[in-house]
Amino acid sequence: MNEKIIDHWEAYLDVEKYGKLTLSNIEFTTTNLCNMRCSHCAVGYTLTSKELDALPVEDMIRRLDEVETLRTMSFTGGEPLLTKRGIKHNLLPLLKYAKSRGIKTQINSNLTLPMSHYELVAPYLDVMHISHNWCTEQEFVETGFAMMDKTPSIEYRSQLYRNIFDNAKELSNGGMFVSAETMLNRNTVPYLRKIHEEIVHEMNCKRHELHPMYASDFAENLETIGLDEYRDVVSELLDYKDKDIWLLLGTLPFYKCSADTRDLDLLAKIEQTPNTTVRNDVDGRSRMNLNIFTGDVSVSDFADDGAALGNILTSSLNDIYDKWLSTNISKNINCHCPAVKCLGSNVIVKNMYYPNKEFISGSVM
Ligand code: SF4
Repeated sequence: MNEKIIDHWEAYLDVEKYGKLTLSNIEFTTTNLCNMRCSHCAVGYTLTSKELDALPVEDMIRRLDEVETLRTMSFTGGEPLLTKRGIKHNLLPLLKYAKSRGIKTQINSNLTLPMSHYELVAPYLDVMHISHNWCTEQEFVETGFAMMDKTPSIEYRSQLYRNIFDNAKELSNGGMFVSAETMLNRNTVPYLRKIHEEIVHEMNCKRHELHPMYASDFAENLETIGLDEYRDVVSELLDYKDKDIWLLLGTLPFYKCSADTRDLDLLAKIEQTPNTTVRNDVDGRSRMNLNIFTGDVSVSDFADDGAALGNILTSSLNDIYDKWLSTNISKNINCHCPAVKCLGSNVIVKNMYYPNKEFISGSVM
C-alpha cells in the first residue's frame, strides 16, 4: 500500500545501500533567533536575541565535500527564515550547494513570516517542515510567546497565527511540499482530529507527521502521554485520517519485537493504511547536527542529547560520526532487525518509554 512513497530521510535507505548505518544527513543549526518562545520548544533555552557571525561557508562546504554519502540536509534553529540577512548569508549558500549535489533539503520554520522570506528559498527547497501543535488560536496567542520577556500585542500574535494557515496554503498551492508535524502530549491529544483536519483542508499540506513530545528544554514542563494512550491515539487517527495525505509516524515507540499483541496489531494496521509510513529515527543513525556558529557537531539539536562530540574545525564529519557510533550510548540503542527493516528506538524515547528494556538485534526473524 505504501510502496510508492519514498521517504528520503529514512535511515534504512543507507543500510540497504551500504549494508550499515551511514552518515547521509546533516542537520544545521543556522540561527539561535526566533520571533516566538513556544512553551513546547525543545531548544528554548538556547534561543538568544543577538547573533554572532557563522563560520565561513567554505569551511563548512569543505567538510560536506568529504561526506560522499550525503543525501539530505535539514536546516533548523531558532527560526531559520527569521531575517533576510540570515537567509542570504547562512542558508542560501548551503541550499545552493545541496542543489548542486542533488541533495534533498528541508527547512524547519514556524511559517509565521512574510511570504517574501519563503520566496527566497523556494527554488532550492524540497520540504518546508512546520509544527502544528496549536489546539486553538487562543492557545497560540497565550503559549506561543509564553517564555518571552516582553510579549507582543494580542493583535500581532493573532496575525501570526493566521499567517501560518495562509502561508501554508499559499506555498502548498504553489507546489511546495509542506509537511506539518504534531507532537503528542497531554495538550494536543484531545485536539488531534481538529489539527489533522486543519492540516489537510486549511493548510493543504502534503504530509502530516506525528511524533512523541520530547520533554526537553521549555517542553520539560509539558506532560507526555503513556504507551497505552499513544497506541489508542494512533489507531484512532488511522481510522479518520484523510486518504490522500501522507501520514508519517516518526519515532514511533512500538516495535515488531514487542511481546504485546496490541503493539503488533497497531503495526499491522499501519501497514494496511494507505499513504502511511513509519520512519526509523534519524538522530544518531544517519544524521548529525552541525552548529554553524561554533562548528560543534552533536547527535541532535536537543540540549538533552549532551555535549558536542567534535568540531569541524579540527575533525571531519565522518570521523565525528564514527566516534559517535563507538560510544556506549550509541551501542546501547542501535539494535537492528533486517527482517522488518527496524533500527530501534532513539535515546530520548528509550529513556522515556523503555528505560529497563533490552532490545536485541535480530530478535525478529
Ligand atoms: S530493531 Fe530493535 S526495536 Fe526493532 S524490532 Fe529489532 S530489537 Fe525490536
